[in-house]
Amino acid sequence: MSDTFTFTIDGVEVTATKGQTIIEAADQSGVYIPRLCYCEGLKPYGGCRICTVLINGRPQAACTQPAAPGIEVTNESAELNKHRRALIDMHFVEGNHFCMFCEKSGDCELQALAYRFGITAPQYPYMFPKRDIDATHPDIFIDRNRCVMCGRCVQASRDVDGKNVFQFVGRGSDKRVAVNSEANLADTDMAASDKAAEVCPVGALLRKRVGFAKPIGKRDYDNTPIGSDIESGKSAAQ
Ligand code: SF4
Repeated sequence: MSDTFTFTIDGVEVTATKGQTIIEAADQSGVYIPRLCYCEGLKPYGGCRICTVLINGRPQAACTQPAAPGIEVTNESAELNKHRRALIDMHFVEGNHFCMFCEKSGDCELQALAYRFGITAPQYPYMFPKRDIDATHPDIFIDRNRCVMCGRCVQASRDVDGKNVFQFVGRGSDKRVAVNSEANLADTDMAASDKAAEVCPVGALLRKRVGFAKPIGKRDYDNTPIGSDIESGKSAAQ
């Protein structure tokens, strides 16, 4: 039996391989499904819900949902995009992002999603939470003000680096990313070469002394919206 099959996204037939998720099959076919916590190469866990699509009319996270023959997926709809915009908005107001001062600006996936969705100002009131910064490590720092709880650092440290440096602690608005030390990042075995140090989608977990390395105009999302790398593969895939 063949390992490949087809299904549709927004009425367009795409091909998938057995074992692929919806988002993997979509990426391969040049269809961009917006996402924030998903990171290729790490185990998806459906945390941010920005990749929510309708599968035969039911909402599911595209990063964790396996593709299946004949399913009908809706990715582009006014209602889905309204929910996505609301989720992106919430990330901005429940943290302290201050994009103009962040060295990840221009390369930040949250900021790039806001650009893509045409968000110029959040629709919800800012919460201005008090969050701490851990700059104790000689090569890496965590600014929890910008953390979007995507879990990429947790996954990468555990599954790629084999170190378990990060975990989530607390609940609700008190939830935060913690390190496996009672004290701080400097007391862990985290290294700047770790996968965990490169996967943060925002400016929360960064290497020191490489800030603002790319000039304006050369940053990832200065000239093309997030997702256009996937969409540029569309003609080849069809
Ligand atoms: S520090 Fe970065 S990678 Fe880790 S959970 Fe926060 S946003 Fe995600």
